[in-house]
Amino acid sequence: MRKILIPLFSVALLTSCGTAKVANDGKSATDSSPKISSKAEKAFQAAYQTISAEDLKKNLYVIASDEMGGRDTGSPGQKKAGEYMINFYKDLGISYPKALGSYYQKVPADFMKKRGGGNLPDSENILAFIEGSEKPEEIIVVSAHYDHVGTRNGVVYNGADDDGSGTVGVMEIAKAFQAAKKAGNGPKRSILFLHVTGEEHGLFGSEFYTDNPVFPLANTVVDLNIDMIGRDDPENRGKQYVYVIGSEMLSSQLKVINEAANKKTNNLELNYKYDDPADPQRLYYRSDHYNFAKNNVPVAFFFDGIHEDYHKPTDDVEKIDYALLQKRTQLVFTTAWDIANSPERIVVDKK
Ligand SMILES: [Zn+2]
Repeated sequence: MRKILIPLFSVALLTSCGTAKVANDGKSATDSSPKISSKAEKAFQAAYQTISAEDLKKNLYVIASDEMGGRDTGSPGQKKAGEYMINFYKDLGISYPKALGSYYQKVPADFMKKRGGGNLPDSENILAFIEGSEKPEEIIVVSAHYDHVGTRNGVVYNGADDDGSGTVGVMEIAKAFQAAKKAGNGPKRSILFLHVTGEEHGLFGSEFYTDNPVFPLANTVVDLNIDMIGRDDPENRGKQYVYVIGSEMLSSQLKVINEAANKKTNNLELNYKYDDPADPQRLYYRSDHYNFAKNNVPVAFFFDGIHEDYHKPTDDVEKIDYALLQKRTQLVFTTAWDIANSPERIVVDKK
């Protein structure tokens, strides 16, 4: 999560949020064969069950270790974290988008410098990809930034929650989709697992991606962005909750789908406190989903709040609630699954 507030420059996205409705497609429950739905349900359950607190913890203990040096943009520690992620994908047999030729999308120093990034070195977004079985050209993006703020005065800012939690969440969601694919139940639409760089310095990696998309933004159905999902904030101490931001800004269907996904799984409290571009914290503008939203791609941003270790060297792996991290990851997975497999693409019907 980015610390500096971004100046207001888009009023187009500030229109108020209306009541969410899903268009009735005319189908009734009797239309679907019970056999098919139970097969689909079994496929979902099998994939869903692969998401485990244990694996999230195992990966986070590497990603947010001192060895990664706080993962500042372009630093050796960030690159090392990136290599770990790529090896994870390779081990699972998950490749990169063909057009890219590797897992890396280079984000040039010059691009960041022009946007106030100072003298940051070249850095990389990391992309893993599972091709859809029926509508491969339609892309679901699941994103999280893997950079953090680095080491200051010899103290490593490990960024376990920000955004180690989102990073391992995306990896775990990829693992679940790949398990489904191996069982012959891969997603109908394609899923892009997008690990962006340069977030803390100014959402640079996601801006570079949306300026230079590997898949046309017109075919990009949604961005589900995860930035900090492993902790709780003072207001929600001990609660099973997650903040959801932006989910009814561009599509009247996304919030409805996410709420249904939540209800059928862990039934977390979905907190919409910050779901307002005019909120003083301006969270709608402060993470990578914003670069998709400004390009008219529906977004949902999953977030745990501003807690006492936010952007402090004490944002460490020991403080993560792994059971809650698992539940929030499962929510994002379920929403991605439902959007990827629904007969119709979700609509963009709001401005
Ligand atoms: Zn941050």
